[in-house]
Amino acid sequence: MNTDAESLMRNPLLDFSALPRFAEISPSHVGPAVDALIAEARATVDTVTAPSQELSWGAFVVPITSALDRLDRAWGQVAHVNAVVNTPPLREAYHANLPKITAFYTELAQDDRVFERYRALAASSGFASLEPAQRRMVENTLRDFRLSGAELPADRKERFKAVEEELAMSSSRYEDNVLDATNAWALYVDQATLRGVPADVVAAAREAAGQDGKAGFKLSLRMPCYLPVMQYAEDRALREQLYRAYGQRASEFGKPEWDNGALIDRILELRAEVATLLGYESFAEVSLVAKMARTPTEVLMFLRDLAARAKPYAERDMAELRDFARDELGLGELAAWDIPFASEKLRQARYSFSDEEVKQYFPEDRVLAGLFELVHKLFAVVIKRSQASAWHPTVSFYDVIDAEGRIVGQFYLDLYARAGKRGGAWMDNAINRRQHGLQRQHPVAYLTCNFSAPIGDKPALFSHDEVTTLFHEFGHGLNLLLTRIDVPGVSGLEGVEWDAVELASQFMENFCWEWDVLASMTAHAGTGAPLPRALFDRMLAARNFQSGMQMVRQLEFALFDMQLHHHFDRSRTTPQELVDAVRREVAVILRPADDRSLTHSFSHVFSGGYAAGYYGYKWAEVLSADAYDLFEQHGVLSPAAGARFRDEILAQGGSRPALESFVAFRGRPPQIDALLRHNGMSVS
Ligand code: ZN
Repeated sequence: MNTDAESLMRNPLLDFSALPRFAEISPSHVGPAVDALIAEARATVDTVTAPSQELSWGAFVVPITSALDRLDRAWGQVAHVNAVVNTPPLREAYHANLPKITAFYTELAQDDRVFERYRALAASSGFASLEPAQRRMVENTLRDFRLSGAELPADRKERFKAVEEELAMSSSRYEDNVLDATNAWALYVDQATLRGVPADVVAAAREAAGQDGKAGFKLSLRMPCYLPVMQYAEDRALREQLYRAYGQRASEFGKPEWDNGALIDRILELRAEVATLLGYESFAEVSLVAKMARTPTEVLMFLRDLAARAKPYAERDMAELRDFARDELGLGELAAWDIPFASEKLRQARYSFSDEEVKQYFPEDRVLAGLFELVHKLFAVVIKRSQASAWHPTVSFYDVIDAEGRIVGQFYLDLYARAGKRGGAWMDNAINRRQHGLQRQHPVAYLTCNFSAPIGDKPALFSHDEVTTLFHEFGHGLNLLLTRIDVPGVSGLEGVEWDAVELASQFMENFCWEWDVLASMTAHAGTGAPLPRALFDRMLAARNFQSGMQMVRQLEFALFDMQLHHHFDRSRTTPQELVDAVRREVAVILRPADDRSLTHSFSHVFSGGYAAGYYGYKWAEVLSADAYDLFEQHGVLSPAAGARFRDEILAQGGSRPALESFVAFRGRPPQIDALLRHNGMSVS
């Protein structure tokens, strides 16, 4: 055996026999693994599209999807470590290989031989005898082929491929700029400047300064620092400084090499070209082809209908806040950087508790135990701590075990914020459920959050918001882990319409507001006492505090995103002018002119998958609120309702349209009433 073959044998990214071998992965493994897997996939495509090859599910779809599954698993590990333990060599390996991956998928998506074989399979006499999930996979594949330019003439196909590659690179650069600008920003202050800021945040800031070999306290723009400073710091100038720095990340106000301005224009230009090439009027139309919503107009009407209902509540929230800030805080004019601060003070005055007070009752171990117990009651699976090689010592690993004692899935839990880790919280698949011959490959998930790490030997304490975030991401995880579909492309979250993807996640958030759930998952960090009922009642009363303001903020994002990708004339309007126009229409908070957060650091839309799709959060919230409404009728811990949710929604994955799954669960199409009721708004 030659040395190349031997080193490939040893490459952990090419071992699919079990879980990923994270501890052994180094940047030097990435290139050889990607090359080998792409070569294997290409060879497979050549074999199964040969004219002599039999055309059937087993002889055509299975070999191709198996090869793609291996590439997906290996590249998924690379993308994951690049996101959570980013280092310069790793980033370099990622960027060196990303174009190969993108080029391969674009090439595959435009491979006429594969397209023709799928078309022939769909037209064959055997098609009707495939399982419904298999038929749906084939239909989705044909749709995606069309969206990837498979029907384009040769010259335009070339152009399409170049556009897609440049889009992937531009989006990735955009995200890097946001990460670099966020990480590079630091402010060293003295203790007096931090008056009002919670002790654990101050302690973490002292530790951060110490790590830099400096005295005093280091502030950053990462969430566990930024949010509490904005909420609690009494120093108004400090809040303004942080707010402006946050809103100016990756913009013309910072380092020129991190300015996303030109990338934004280019991304929009390229997306518009994608639409033109495919024969659509706008990128928004392209985005909606595979979604539950039908047209941009339908989405805009949905958003504006919600905005009209929510804006009076938002204006009332704002008027109350203004009065309170003027009378109680001496803040005559409320600036954007006063809103979180004044809101927290108003919330404390009105409901007499603080996030910090509540946080003491949510130590990590109790929260996790409570979540796992809930999932056990609802979906009849046990979650048990297990072992696996991981990318950081603070990552933990779990088995999901069904009533018969079988492992149906596993997941990694990476809870804490740290340098080199992308911000936010998300769930991603490490492995999708598949059936290979007699062997079942069970699903494995990455659950990633950015909560404050424990300090010293004290357990990590989570705010109620963080607990809600954890439940949310776990809901996504349930989609992946509890699917019963083995068919590639429609298993778990695969093939689920984007605007229905947040159904299970937002559904799970509701349980963070149930006494029966919270009572058993809380224990005070000092005394061990559970959350007092009186405090819970105040939290509940505060639940819809500023829900009007929050709703119009989400609608601001969604309306901006949808209009930016539909009939937006870049030659006459800048994205920032559109932001301003949307804010005039729905926002109630006046933001400073140098706030670039919706354009220069809106990763969801410019580098995530949410372009012309941000509305999906609210769209899915209608579904999740309406689904939860059934649990409210049957008792929220009802095993019967849980079984129905698991069987009709979670288990089905993308094997049928989300609307069909919803109707099977709920007995009727979704209605908007439960969403308004849950937000304390009247239903008219
Ligand atoms: Zn989500």
